[in-house]
Amino acid sequence: MLESRNVSVFYGRHRALENVSASISKGEIVVMLGANGAGKSTFLRAIAGQTQKADGGTVLMDGNDITRRPPHEIVETGVALVPEDRGIFADLTVQENLFLGAHPARARALEAQNMQRVLELFPRLKERPKQLVRTMSGGERQMVAIGRAMMSAPSILLLDEPSLGLAPVLCTELFRTLRRIKESGVGIFLVEQNAKQSLAIADRGYLLDNGHIVGADSAAALAKDEKVKAAYLGE
Ligand code: ATP
Repeated sequence: MLESRNVSVFYGRHRALENVSASISKGEIVVMLGANGAGKSTFLRAIAGQTQKADGGTVLMDGNDITRRPPHEIVETGVALVPEDRGIFADLTVQENLFLGAHPARARALEAQNMQRVLELFPRLKERPKQLVRTMSGGERQMVAIGRAMMSAPSILLLDEPSLGLAPVLCTELFRTLRRIKESGVGIFLVEQNAKQSLAIADRGYLLDNGHIVGADSAAALAKDEKVKAAYLGE
């Protein structure tokens, strides 16, 4: 289980997160919903060791304190982040990007097996291993980004707005793939503005507003909640 306890992050004097406690277990999908600027990306970066420093609180992975560990060490514990800008190398091929994801020691021995699994999840990548990523569509780049993270053999995958900029049909395909990844035992923590589709695949959810958790419940309950409907589902 990956868990944040009372995590706070400041940018200078601006408080982006205050006392955020949340958790995700292997084999579940958890979504964090929040408006622009609520602090969703900051939260994922804080967990992955990518904010300058967490100004308070603790992050635990399987009970071990990873709060002050550098990002490459956090990856070795089984936590992989796909950032909002997707963090892939546009001038490298699909295959090269995927192999870069296999760099962590935990993944090296299983490289061939993980590659096979990623290509099963994303058949479109299997068809074009040599294509330069900069020539790919937004949806295909997102597949490369998630595929690369999966090559590090994560037990918890952190996704920052994976559906951003994708056409509706690709969103549906993406969320279907996330469900398959979950079924393989990986925990997926995603932050999203696409509340409808993310709540439909999630087990649980958190609501983040102005750096604070203002709600937490099962995804089914959140999808029915009047305040959630008004704020995030446009109903
Ligand atoms: P979005 O959905 O627009 O990506 P978000 O919920 O992910 O928003 P964050 O990107 O985490 O929100 O930003 C939270 C707040 O912190 C915002 O007010 C943002 O302007 C501020 N912020 C984020 N990164 C920095 C930074 N590096 N320096 C200063 N302020 C920052």
